[in-house]
Amino acid sequence: MINLQQYGYTQREAPNEGEAPACVTAVHRERYELVTESGSTFGKLKTSLYYGSHPQPFPTVGDFVFIKDAPGNDCQIVKTLPRKSYFSRLDPTPGGHKEQAIAANFDTVFIMQSLNQNFNLRRLERYLALTLQSGAMPVIVLTKVDLIDDSGQQIDEVEAIAPGVDIMAISSVTGQGLSALEKYLLPGRVCVFLGSSGVGKSSLLNALMGADVMTVTEIREDDARGRHTTTHRQLFTLPCGSHIIDTPGMRELGMWERSESIKESVSSVFADIEKKLGNCRFTDCRHQSEPGCVILEAISVGEIDSNRWESYQKLQREAFYAENKLEAIRQKSARNKDIAVWSKNRRKTGKVKW
Ligand code: GDP
Repeated sequence: MINLQQYGYTQREAPNEGEAPACVTAVHRERYELVTESGSTFGKLKTSLYYGSHPQPFPTVGDFVFIKDAPGNDCQIVKTLPRKSYFSRLDPTPGGHKEQAIAANFDTVFIMQSLNQNFNLRRLERYLALTLQSGAMPVIVLTKVDLIDDSGQQIDEVEAIAPGVDIMAISSVTGQGLSALEKYLLPGRVCVFLGSSGVGKSSLLNALMGADVMTVTEIREDDARGRHTTTHRQLFTLPCGSHIIDTPGMRELGMWERSESIKESVSSVFADIEKKLGNCRFTDCRHQSEPGCVILEAISVGEIDSNRWESYQKLQREAFYAENKLEAIRQKSARNKDIAVWSKNRRKTGKVKW
């Protein structure tokens, strides 16, 4: 008998007669691997409930679902239960224009970057905003510490952009720093690895599992080129009873309009910048060349890094797009119309005429 609480399940809703809860541990094309209280099994979506007029969200790894037995067949998945956290992307299948969850119900996100290559503060800011929006807690894991002499300066730089976030430097090769992860790897807790290909996600998973469960793709450390090694989504249970979700497609993670507003997540990642906004001489300051602009002033004295300011503006635009998709599309089509008028006039007259 398996207790689903070991997977983080808390019953908020009782299943109907004949239904039972299950946790999704792997997603294949149309089949789902599940853990139920009586063991592992496979399930398929009940078509009328997932493709009907009010479709349920498709389950993903880490989801809790209700299932019904279908003797002689895979069981039927009849309901996706509400999620406490999730990551999503745009459904990449042809004709898919919807948000697609790719990992759910995790507690902690290990945001991973390698110290020797791939170290990029702007990417970290983006991952931090996405993690805060997902509903989980970020932890920054700097990998391959064995390959560098001193990680002090890089840790200082990360601290400056991620105040209050736990930062650790580890090596899956020597085992350095791995014990610092233990406080997050508690029984029943679920973690996700978020990081580009080649940063050492598979190596860390193997080190924590104490076995090679994931293929490590050898990369050339001189140019940090790696190949995509993760090809399916899976939830692994560590010997300590904690779980790790490994999922491909983290690169395409998107920002979406959600109840936990993405704008708020971006604001909390850039609290230092937001504190200054609104203090410029002109209330409608665009922070470009206006006199009395506190942002330009802070950049000129080195109080705000100009790259960080650009990163803030970029993520703000993305957040705006996520929250105002229709408005953004309208603005884009107005811009395209302007360009069309401009080129038509140009073709007609040979001159630019507005
Ligand atoms: P993934 O694509 O994020 O899963 O990365 P992998 O785990 O496949 O690792 C990519 C490359 O980095 C491989 O060549 C690993 O041997 C190497 N690697 C991973 N972790 C470490 C580490 O802590 N130290 C060193 N020196 N190499 C590592």
